[in-house]
Amino acid sequence: MAANGSIQKPEEEWRAILSPEQFRILRQKGTEPKSTGEYDKFFRDGIYNCAGCGTPLYKSTTKFNSGCGWPAFYEGLPGAINRFPDPDGRRTEITCAACGGHLGHVFKGEGFATPTDERHCVNSVSIKFLPAETSTASQ
Ligand SMILES: [Zn+2]
Repeated sequence: MAANGSIQKPEEEWRAILSPEQFRILRQKGTEPKSTGEYDKFFRDGIYNCAGCGTPLYKSTTKFNSGCGWPAFYEGLPGAINRFPDPDGRRTEITCAACGGHLGHVFKGEGFATPTDERHCVNSVSIKFLPAETSTASQ
């Protein structure tokens, strides 16, 4: 796994490799419209990688149906996710630890029946699913 903050690129390089929507969300901290994301109601077996740098972020086994309109995970892979106080003063932003790409926000204590009682509310645009059957073959 890429080390914390190890993938740094100038803005124009990100703009060149990301779609306009990926750039808006990953690099400019945008949010995809509720209930529109590719992975909102998607529950296949595999790994979710950062859409910006390809670092593995979440296992499908930690994904749950929160009903909130965005993909929800109760836990990131160890060291894969950084947390920062959001500029709005209320929420906690989550980013890819390797490239700093914006993923979404993490909420605690909402009462979901998960091992952590945390909800990582992640934009589908920020992640890329890799099915379990190919996730090890490509290493
Ligand atoms: Zn990344």
